[in-house]
Amino acid sequence: MIQNARTSSTTRLLAALAVAGLAAACATAPSGGTATPAPATDAGIARGQARAKLEAGNRRFVAGGMRAHAWQDERVVQTGQFGQSPSVGILSCADSRVPVEIIFDQGVGDLFVVRMAGNFDTPGATATFEYGVAALGVHTMLVLGHTKCGAVIAAVDGKDLPGSMPIFAREIRPAIEAAMAANKDKGAQAVIDASIEANVRFQMRKLEESAILRDAKAKGMQVLGAIYDVDTGKVRFLD
Ligand SMILES: [Zn+2]
Repeated sequence: MIQNARTSSTTRLLAALAVAGLAAACATAPSGGTATPAPATDAGIARGQARAKLEAGNRRFVAGGMRAHAWQDERVVQTGQFGQSPSVGILSCADSRVPVEIIFDQGVGDLFVVRMAGNFDTPGATATFEYGVAALGVHTMLVLGHTKCGAVIAAVDGKDLPGSMPIFAREIRPAIEAAMAANKDKGAQAVIDASIEANVRFQMRKLEESAILRDAKAKGMQVLGAIYDVDTGKVRFLD
C-alpha cells in the first residue's frame, strides 16, 4: 500500500509540475520516468489516512515509543535524490512546545509546515500551501492550535503591544470575538480555551479563500483542525 501511495504521489507531482510550470523550482524531481523507490519502512502518509496516521504518531509520542528517527537516514537520501512529496500541510504555532514533526512522530519529507505565533493564515502561508498542494502533492491540510497559546491570549487581552506585535490581535481577534462573547460568563480560562479552538476553525475557513486550496478541497483534499495540549502532549482533533 505504501509503495502504491508513493508511486501515485510521484505521478501526481509530475503532472502538477507540468501544469503549474514549476519544474524549475523542483529540479530535484525524478526525470525520465524513474519511479521513486518505496521506503522500506512504515513512512509516508497516504491520502485519506492523514488523521489516523497523525493520531497514531501522536500516541507513540505520548507513550515514548517514537520511531520516525529510525528511517531518517533513508528518507534524507531518498528525498535528496528524488525530491519531496510531503503529504500533509500544517499551519501551526511557533511555540517551542509544539515541534510538529516530533509530536506526530513524522520524519523528513512527510509534513509541509508553516509556523506562525497564533497559527493564523497570512498571504505567505497561503502561497506556501498552494505550492505544496499544486506542485508537491500535499493532499491534507491541518490547522494546529495549542493550549496556553500566548498569541491568542494576547488577542483576548487586547493590550497594546510594541513593534509589529499588534498583528496578533488584528489577525486573531476577528476569529475569536464570538467565542469570547459566548463564554464570558464562564471565566477567563474558558474564554481562552474557546478562543483557541475558534481560531483554529476560523483559519481552516480562511485557507479556503484561496481558489487553489478550495478547488483541491472540492476534489477531495481534507482540511482538518486540532488542538495540542502542552501539558499532556496529546493532540485532540476537532470534529
Ligand atoms: Zn501559540
